[in-house]
Amino acid sequence: MALGKGVVIDLSRMKGIVFDEKRWLAKIEPGVTAFDLQREASRHGYRVHVAEPAAAVCGSTSCSGLFSLFSTTYGTAADNYVDAEFVGSDGSMFSLNDKAAPNLYAFDRVEQKAPGICTALSVKLHPKTADETGVLVPFATMEQAIGFSRECATRRIGLAMGILDLEYVSAFISPTQELAVKVKEIFADRLGMACMVLVIGDKYSMAAIGEMGLPLFDQRLVTALTLGLPSLASARWLDLIHELTEDEPFSYLKIRGFAELAEAALAPSPGQLVQDLDPELRPFFEELYARPELTDLVWLNMFRITSSRIGRDRHFFPIVVYLPGASADWRNGNRLEGNCGPTPAEEQPRLHHPGGQRQAVRHGIRLLCRPDQRRRNPPGTAGNCGRR
Ligand SMILES: Cc1cc2nc3c(=O)[nH]c(=O)nc-3n(C[C@H](O)[C@H](O)[C@H](O)COP(=O)(O)OP(=O)(O)OC[C@H]3O[C@@H](n4cnc5c(N)ncnc54)[C@H](O)[C@@H]3O)c2cc1C
Repeated sequence: MALGKGVVIDLSRMKGIVFDEKRWLAKIEPGVTAFDLQREASRHGYRVHVAEPAAAVCGSTSCSGLFSLFSTTYGTAADNYVDAEFVGSDGSMFSLNDKAAPNLYAFDRVEQKAPGICTALSVKLHPKTADETGVLVPFATMEQAIGFSRECATRRIGLAMGILDLEYVSAFISPTQELAVKVKEIFADRLGMACMVLVIGDKYSMAAIGEMGLPLFDQRLVTALTLGLPSLASARWLDLIHELTEDEPFSYLKIRGFAELAEAALAPSPGQLVQDLDPELRPFFEELYARPELTDLVWLNMFRITSSRIGRDRHFFPIVVYLPGASADWRNGNRLEGNCGPTPAEEQPRLHHPGGQRQAVRHGIRLLCRPDQRRRNPPGTAGNCGRR
C-alpha cells in the first residue's frame, strides 16, 4: 500500500550476490544492502564502493549515484557499475549495456524518474592491500585543507579523502551531545583547528604524505583520542601544547613520543569513553567500543559508518553539489554553482557555517560539496542537483 498514487514493491528478500572475479564484478539483487555487500566483498579480498550501511545498493545506484570518500579514486554515478538490469514501467526488460538503453545519469535540472525497477546490478570490485591505513590531517584554515586535498587528489596520493568540518568530526567520535560540543570547542579554540582532512591510503601514499611534512593524527593517535575523549576536556597538558608548538601549527604532533604522552594523558579505553552514558547503556557500548573496527578509519569508511549522533540539532545531508575542480567559489560555501548552474542569491542556502563535508572526486576533476545547511532546500537545489 502506498500513501499516494502507486504501489510499494518490497524487493528486500532478493538478496543474491554472485562474485565473478575474472570480470572484477559482483552481480547483486535489489535487496542487497551496502553493509552485506561490503562484508561479502571483504571476505573475498575486495572492496566495493557503497553508501551508508542500510542503503540498498541498487536503490542508491538508481537514485543518488552513490558517492563516498572513496569517490576520490573510485568515482561516482556510472563509475560504480559495469551493468544493470531493469524492468521498465511498460513491463519490458532491458540492460544498461543495450545500445538503446536510457542513460541513467543524463543531466537535466529537473526531478527525474528512474527508468524502471533495477532487478540486478553488476558492481565493480576494487583491490585492497594489507597495508592500508588512515590519517587525520588538521588545518588552521579551510583554504589550506582544500589546497592539500587537491594536491593529493591530482597527484593520485591516497585512496579515499575528504575534508571534514569540526562539527562532523566531534559528533562522530563523541558518545554524547554534551561531549561533542566540548570537543568541538577544544579542537577549534584551544587547538586552533578549522577542519581535518581524512586520508586513507597504502604505505606508499602514507610515505608521500609523510614527505610533505605535515603534522597529523595517525591511526594510533586517532584510537587514543577516540577512546580517551572524556579526558580531553580536562587534560591539563592542553595548556602546554602551545608551548610545545613552534611556529608551525600543530607541530606538537611531530614530537617524538607524543603518542605515548597522549596515551598517558588520555588513558584511552572503552570504559573511559562510555563513562558519561546512561548506566544501563554502558555495558553495551563498552563491549561495542572494545571492537578495534570502531576506531579503525579504514573500516569505518569502507562500511560508511554514519554516527546516529550526526544531525541531532538539525538535519544533515540536505543537498549535494558537484563543482568544477578548479572552482574557488565553493571555498566560502555561500555560492553554490557548478553543474547546477548559477544559483540566484535569494535561492542560495543559508549556511550554518561553511563546513559540512567536501571531497575531491575522480582525482580532483570535481569537488563534491555537502554543505551544512540550516533551512529547507531552496528551489532548484533539492536533493542531488538535476539528474540524481
Ligand atoms: C544518514 C544517511 C547517510 C547517507 N550516506 C550516503 C553516502 O555516504 N553515500 C551516498 O551515496 N548516499 C548516502 N546517503 C543517501 C542514500 O544512500 C540514498 O538515498 C539511498 O538511495 C538510500 O537507500 P535506501 O535503501 O534507503 O533507498 P530507498 O529510500 O528505499 O530508495 C531510494 C529511491 O530509490 C528507489 N529505488 C529503491 N530501490 C530501487 C530499485 N531496485 N530500482 C529502482 N529504484 C529503486 C526508491 O523508489 C526511492 O525513490 C545517505 C543517506 C542517509 C539518510
